[in-house]
Amino acid sequence: MSKFSDYNFKGQKALIRVDFNVPLNDKFEITDDNRMRASLPSIQKILKDGGSVILMSHFGRPKEGPSEKYSLKHLVNHLQKLLGNETKVLFADDCIGEDAVNKSKNLKPGEVLLLENLRFYKEEEKGDEGFAEKLSKLGDVYVNDAFGTAHRAHASTAIIAKFFAADKKMFGLLMEKEVESAEKILHKAEKPFLAIIGGAKVSDKILVIENLLDRATDIIIGGGMAYTFFKAEGGKIGNSLCEDDRVETAKELLEKAKEKNVCIHLPQDSIIADKFDANAEVSGALSNTIPDGWMGLDIGQMAIETFCKVISNSKTILWNGPMGVFEMEKFQHGTKAIAQAIADATKNGAFSLIGGGDSVAAVNKFNLADKVSFVSTGGGALLEYFEGKTLPGIAAIQL
Ligand code: AMP
Repeated sequence: MSKFSDYNFKGQKALIRVDFNVPLNDKFEITDDNRMRASLPSIQKILKDGGSVILMSHFGRPKEGPSEKYSLKHLVNHLQKLLGNETKVLFADDCIGEDAVNKSKNLKPGEVLLLENLRFYKEEEKGDEGFAEKLSKLGDVYVNDAFGTAHRAHASTAIIAKFFAADKKMFGLLMEKEVESAEKILHKAEKPFLAIIGGAKVSDKILVIENLLDRATDIIIGGGMAYTFFKAEGGKIGNSLCEDDRVETAKELLEKAKEKNVCIHLPQDSIIADKFDANAEVSGALSNTIPDGWMGLDIGQMAIETFCKVISNSKTILWNGPMGVFEMEKFQHGTKAIAQAIADATKNGAFSLIGGGDSVAAVNKFNLADKVSFVSTGGGALLEYFEGKTLPGIAAIQL
């Protein structure tokens, strides 16, 4: 693979896999253009070098071929605005075929061509080689800048790479930062290494916790998933969230942690509520003696203090999943305190990576996104990475 920032794109047509899967309202207006903005540094570097850019992306989940609703044509005007009038932006209403071939062939340095939604072809998600090869013919160099789909072995995210020589494939700037940050956590973590895992479901995070048991010094488990662990320890958790079919797994994880000398921190106390509601009646309790009819919806003050101490002693911090129902004001305190503690630790020299939709939403909500080392754009991809799996989109470039 080549390194994007060292590569000179002069006279080259760069085929970039981006993630332009942005939300639209019912008037086809973009309601959040962060994903488009995130791809600009890579696009601009190529244009500045004197190259041209062919952009390919998926968009939504079209079921039966092309449809108005899932057309990337709705993004063209905004892309033009983001790149400025001096950059000519073209659109091909198919991602392969004559129009795409002709427009990419005639593309001049400094111009950008956006291809129609890749998922209008079922071959994309199937990872079809023939389809990948057709796509590959459109560009001289392949750049993958879509970390969010790196865990999929789709035609445009992984299979396509085999049609480019080693020095003609690379990560884009966004993806490069994602990979570097994730590798720093998983393979080069300075100790003490703390993983903070929260959110609703144990089942989603078991494999991550298991893999981190071989690497982390401490693991904080918060959010709704903590109560399955309290149940595993014989605690009373009232009506708190619990996955009964995972109680045994939680027990095993706690035992494994002991064997491996990893310190698991569960929230000693909780903010409890009489119903799952923003206006619920609220009280406090130890997390293993929650009365019937009550549920833990946030971590309590004792837990916050313990967790903040662990955070401030750590040199590497990974955070995935909120500590409580932070979307409701009454239950956001724990998540906010943890986000602030991570920002403080980062200021004092720790490396921190925040990933997963809800923890990212939380750091944004509390205006702390620029106070941590890295905020990942990957949800499923990041989780699979920390489960220890090889991500096809990364492997295809690195091979
Ligand atoms: P996940 O997608 O598994 O990371 O879960 C995120 C969701 O978990 C958020 O929407 C939170 O509101 C929710 N959550 C966090 N703590 C709790 C809790 N104690 N009880 C119920 N839901 C929770």
